[in-house]
Amino acid sequence: MRVIDNISGLKAIIRAQKAAGRTIGFVPTMGYLHEGHLSLARASVAENDFTVISIFVNPIQFGVNEDLDKYPRDFAGDTAKAESCGVDVIFMPSVQEMYPAGYSTYVELSGEITGKLCGKSRPGHFRGVVTVVTKLFNLVEPDKAYFGQKDAQQAVIITRMARELNMNPEVVTCPIIREPDGLAMSSRNVYLNTEERKAALVLSSSLFQAEAGIRAGERNAERILAGIVKNIKEESIAQLEYASLVNAETLEDVKLIKGKVLIALAVKFGRTRLIDNIAVEV
Ligand code: AMP
Repeated sequence: MRVIDNISGLKAIIRAQKAAGRTIGFVPTMGYLHEGHLSLARASVAENDFTVISIFVNPIQFGVNEDLDKYPRDFAGDTAKAESCGVDVIFMPSVQEMYPAGYSTYVELSGEITGKLCGKSRPGHFRGVVTVVTKLFNLVEPDKAYFGQKDAQQAVIITRMARELNMNPEVVTCPIIREPDGLAMSSRNVYLNTEERKAALVLSSSLFQAEAGIRAGERNAERILAGIVKNIKEESIAQLEYASLVNAETLEDVKLIKGKVLIALAVKFGRTRLIDNIAVEV
């Protein structure tokens, strides 16, 4: 496995792989790798001849009062984990390498798809995500790119961007990997103290309960959401940011549950903001 921090080095490797006729799989991440990231890496290694994982804490997707400066990093751990999955290249550029002084080009999706859920609470977030993913797709030229359902809105947005901009990579969305007690794995879970870690289970337990309600025949989105809000309010240190029930592909609000829907939550515990979701098809 090679660790590359510069664009010209990465491009030379990609050129050689393409010339040899190898397929390329790509997994973009912000590092501090856990089993969620590694599930994407394993899928890529299984389905492609050559796998590139990027580790880049992308400053332009963070808001001014967010956790850019304290985002967790573990270079040695990440390298060992990526290597153990059979990753061929870690691309780990500096901010300067990705956004040299005077950088001015941004890619943005318009409309409701970016204006709600996390896009509403984190203005500019998806502009930053879509811009960096576009740059990374141009650099890695993957045949397939892997994203987690954990960031459901991001996966929908990237899938749409790739389609609408006629990009080559097939965008693959992989299932959410959870801790044994249900908490969705996230690099940000490390911020939680013992009390917050325990309280954070309210996200997954509310979602599982909502899913069970739908499977038992409930079709009224308002009632499902009311149940979730009640659970979260009962957890005194949880501050609900949003709980939404939307069409899983268009992200439009749903009143009567039909087809594939997504129930998505963002909840804060102290200064730590966690997201989770569940997709249910009826
Ligand atoms: P991040 O490093 O948080 O930007 O995540 C990089 C990629 O890993 C994104 O596509 C995430 O959706 C995905 N990911 C993060 N956590 C999980 C998880 N628990 N299960 C599956 N995929 C995940």
